[in-house]
Amino acid sequence: MRRPIVAGNWKMHGSRAENAALVEGILASWPTHAGDCVVCPPFVYLQELARILRGSPIQLGAQDTCAEPLGAFTGEVSAAMLRDVGCEYVIVGHSERRALYAEDDALVARKFAAAQGKGLIPILCVGETLAERDAGRTHEIVGRQLDAVLDLCGAAAFASAVLAYEPVWAIGTGRVASPEQAQDVHAFVRGRIAARDATIAGSVRILYGGSVKAGNARELFAMPDVDGGLIGGASLKAEEFVAILAAATA
Ligand code: PEP
Repeated sequence: MRRPIVAGNWKMHGSRAENAALVEGILASWPTHAGDCVVCPPFVYLQELARILRGSPIQLGAQDTCAEPLGAFTGEVSAAMLRDVGCEYVIVGHSERRALYAEDDALVARKFAAAQGKGLIPILCVGETLAERDAGRTHEIVGRQLDAVLDLCGAAAFASAVLAYEPVWAIGTGRVASPEQAQDVHAFVRGRIAARDATIAGSVRILYGGSVKAGNARELFAMPDVDGGLIGGASLKAEEFVAILAAATA
């Protein structure tokens, strides 16, 4: 039995006051059987949230990391720094990073390795564009993105990592994958890992992300290979996020 996990990607939203109100709202109506819960605010708020969340059931994640350990990389933040301020997780390979900042599979794999090397749990995002799906290339694209990390880090690395299937066409669009579409790709991803290590494949948690809301979370999370969600917009509303958390452990 895999422990469900729900992670909120706040993207470039929030302020000190809004963040405090949001986590207070989530904790105030914390559901009884929540699995793991992670929030990923912008870098500048991590340290303060680490203090606010200390002793709470909410864990802290970052939205990205530099692949390099230290040095002349202006504007970047290393995995060691993220650990230092209290992060336990870090998202790598989010489609917005891939599309807007030209992050390729090789760089994402190096970020994954850098994060694990410093004791962070990477949340590796994979997913196809609409054009790729329409061309019947979903498995090819997701397989390629996954293989880059499997080839660099090995299947054993997924003993302490989380995967997130996020179809690009579903992120922030209100157009959610059907439970069957999500299950198909999740099963494909698990099978791809199983080809290298069946035990690891059985235990790795695979999140679905893309327009998850309180109203559609339950049917998505009911699929056998969907172990929770990576939530964007709905993670900014305490009531919605708590309902999604509850759905993950219903
Ligand atoms: C995301 O940012 O990873 C995401 C899934 O966003 P949304 O839930 O808003 O589609």
